[in-house]
Amino acid sequence: MRRYAIIGSGPAGIAAAQAIRSQDERAELLLISDDPHGYYSRPGLAYYLTGELPESMLFPFTEQELRLLGVRFLRARARSIDAPAHQIELEGGSRQAYDRLLIASGAQAAPIDYPGGELQGVVKLDCLEDARRILKLARKAKAAVVLGGGITALEIVEGLVSRGVKTHYLLRGDRYWSNVLDETESKIVGHRLVEEGVRLHYHTQVEQILGKGGRVVGVRIQDGRQIACDLVAVAIGIRPRVELAQRSEITIERGILVNEYMETSAPDVYAAGDVAQVYDPFTGKSVLDSLWGPARAQGHTAGMNMSGQHIPYLKPVAFNVTRLANLTTTIIGRVGGGRDPDLLGIARGDSEIWRQLPDAIAAQSDFNVNHLRLLVGEQTLLGAVVMGDQTLSQAIQHMVARQADIRPVRQQLLQPKAPLAEIIAQFWTQWKKNDNAQQP
Ligand SMILES: Cc1cc2nc3c(=O)[nH]c(=O)nc-3n(C[C@H](O)[C@H](O)[C@H](O)COP(=O)(O)OP(=O)(O)OC[C@H]3O[C@@H](n4cnc5c(N)ncnc54)[C@H](O)[C@@H]3O)c2cc1C
Repeated sequence: MRRYAIIGSGPAGIAAAQAIRSQDERAELLLISDDPHGYYSRPGLAYYLTGELPESMLFPFTEQELRLLGVRFLRARARSIDAPAHQIELEGGSRQAYDRLLIASGAQAAPIDYPGGELQGVVKLDCLEDARRILKLARKAKAAVVLGGGITALEIVEGLVSRGVKTHYLLRGDRYWSNVLDETESKIVGHRLVEEGVRLHYHTQVEQILGKGGRVVGVRIQDGRQIACDLVAVAIGIRPRVELAQRSEITIERGILVNEYMETSAPDVYAAGDVAQVYDPFTGKSVLDSLWGPARAQGHTAGMNMSGQHIPYLKPVAFNVTRLANLTTTIIGRVGGGRDPDLLGIARGDSEIWRQLPDAIAAQSDFNVNHLRLLVGEQTLLGAVVMGDQTLSQAIQHMVARQADIRPVRQQLLQPKAPLAEIIAQFWTQWKKNDNAQQP
């Protein structure tokens, strides 16, 4: 009987456990996690903050469903791996043996290194405990300051506004999420935030978080002015949790490097999810994602391979459907580039692939709530941002993934003021017919 160990109870770890169990009914499955709440939806935390989802809805499985998986849960933090001996060392010194191991330790918020970052009332949003803390503080808070870029910063802003907290959102740069969104898209988000009552401050950098009696009372910005607040939330990006691999001489770049079978440099040790840096056949580079869907898919592939299959993970086109300032937005493929002064590395719900600005021409239509931007390559669509009306987002995702030959409509798409949505909708109908006809 094989003994499988999985470190991490997020979607990658759970998908791996399901895959292993599907292949090996008798396997011994050990799941080690330092999160007391086990498996729950981290993307759902945004809706928990706004009050749209109760806490109970964050859990995809009932206790009984988890029990049926036949997993032994161990609440502990893994410290290092002794790969030659096939053992995991836990904090506290005890050891667990394994035959095959998956590291699915995810990512965590980049450390808060502002002076005053240790004060009570300074928060981040990684896990359920963080969300509970924010809600508890929001009950009494009169004003809050949010720092950082990407989806998580906005989710905290929206959560605080919906709880009636006067919210200042401070950006170092001149627009929101500048290495993924273009100027129009950032402006759309900015306008909507202001309409919601958010105090938006561009070109604003915090020098110090101010405290009194150990608690936050405000922030001092670069020109010496102070903004009074009793809560400071920071979301400046994430870091894969690689400490464990670092102590174990497993090869790391920005995350744990894996091949297409999700194998690390150590024998019988696999990695998947936010912690893994995964080969992308579209760009030929190994990249990080912080996306729920790919974490599950990678965990599944890792689990299948751990239990004896030989299945490569073919990285799909990175996409995310999210909400930016209450506007449904889908980001597909390669769309941005450069650096965003409000983020170190990638953010939650984000992919490094989005930052690889392709050799393409951007075509845009509609400059208010319903906005469509297409990255038009020589023969194919390379990426897109779909804001508001989502009718076309699945079609575009499909065409980017399948590298649909768009030459018949390329010139039309590149005309000034071209009705992109109409052109794409008509092309999609035709293309789908031909594509279906060609499928076996
Ligand atoms: C606020 C928020 C919003 C998000 N929004 C989106 C979104 O809109 N769309 C989207 O696709 N994705 C979103 N994500 C990202 C998504 O949740 C992650 O990509 C996904 O959870 C990654 O899964 P994972 O299994 O790799 O890691 P995680 O879900 O992070 O799980 C890792 C687990 O490992 C445990 N662990 C770590 N180190 C150790 C150790 N040494 N010992 C024991 N246990 C350990 C952790 O406690 C945790 O339980 C969001 C995440 C957050 C936090």
